[in-house]
Amino acid sequence: MTTNLLNYDVKGLADFCTEIGEKPFRAKQLLRWIHQFGITDFVDMTDLAKGLREKLTTLAVIESPQIISDYVAADGTRKWLLSVGAGNGIETVFIPEANRGTLCVSSQVGCALACTFCSTGKQGFNRNLTVAEIIGQLWIANKTLRIDPKDNTADTNRVVSNVVLMGMGEPLANFDNVVMALDLMLDDHAYGLSRRRVTVSTSGLVPAIDRLRERCPVALAVSLHAPNDSLRDQLVPINKKYPIKELLAACQRYLLAAPRDFITFEYVMLDGVNDSVSHANELIKLVRDTPCKFNLIPFNSFPGSDFRRSTSEAVCIFRDVLMQAGIVTTVRKTRGDDIAAACGQLAGQVKDKTRRSTYIKAETAE
Ligand code: SAH
Ligand code: SF4
Repeated sequence: MTTNLLNYDVKGLADFCTEIGEKPFRAKQLLRWIHQFGITDFVDMTDLAKGLREKLTTLAVIESPQIISDYVAADGTRKWLLSVGAGNGIETVFIPEANRGTLCVSSQVGCALACTFCSTGKQGFNRNLTVAEIIGQLWIANKTLRIDPKDNTADTNRVVSNVVLMGMGEPLANFDNVVMALDLMLDDHAYGLSRRRVTVSTSGLVPAIDRLRERCPVALAVSLHAPNDSLRDQLVPINKKYPIKELLAACQRYLLAAPRDFITFEYVMLDGVNDSVSHANELIKLVRDTPCKFNLIPFNSFPGSDFRRSTSEAVCIFRDVLMQAGIVTTVRKTRGDDIAAACGQLAGQVKDKTRRSTYIKAETAE
């Protein structure tokens, strides 16, 4: 059995090196070859002794998910559908902007939390992604998006400057693997991203928010979506277990350790459901004691969804009401609409498991 080294952070690699009779400091060299240079063939790891390279070739592999499809939208948004085996597809989206490049990464196949407006939630839960499958998304993006494909050395050649765990799945429900992937994102020998540039988005798993604060406090986005429990219970069912008051208390505790001095609240704009001026006013009162910014997300509709996107007018008014109360509020651009870039939508198009595996097999056979 070979070991996939993409599953290991620096500590895991050091342990692996010790296990195979090598010095643990080799871990840092390996980390650089794997993550900074994107090398998969141990033979090319030229500063490792030949004997070690040969040993690695027989004992280990560097294996990321397989690319099934790779779409580029007119606005430059790029979306990969990746196979993680057994007919399961996940998606990764790259959003280029003038001063940064953001990669939206998935953490699970499906999601058990069943938010009613979410296509991933509607698919149900299949399984957690491994560390290799989570970090593999950044690994693939970095390899694919190099400015100069031949130059795999310079930091300036890297295009992904920010990572958001806002793809398929609930990252905090796959805590251990997500945190190990975060460690790799932050490690200077791997991707060297600052904590401020890595964001975990959660629907509000309160105990896990506290664990993240202790273990790896990166930037935090919380999917609020409603200004009161009765509405949030309907949209985000996990609210019944961790109601808004407890969630906001966890946010305040998080801020004591967070790399940014605010929490980002995501708020999906659903026509006639949560988008009125009175909802906005209720929200203002609710978050009075929580330093925050709002990101309004116009609902991305998908086949079989029960909701409609709020009108542009409603979104603008809602934003203005929050802004007038002194809350910084942005509206997510509906980028990449031509490739259905709303997280969860592409894999969601492949409806049942049988069809999905046929589709994936057909694509990978090419
Ligand atoms: N599970 C995590 C992260 C993944 S979802 C979470 O819920 O936060 C990332 C964001 O997209 C969340 O804010 C989620 O509520 C939102 N979202 C899900 N489905 C959507 C849709 N159809 N339209 C717009 N936003 C959606
Ligand atoms: Fe899961 Fe997030 Fe979708 Fe809710 S919005 S079902 S938590 S992926």
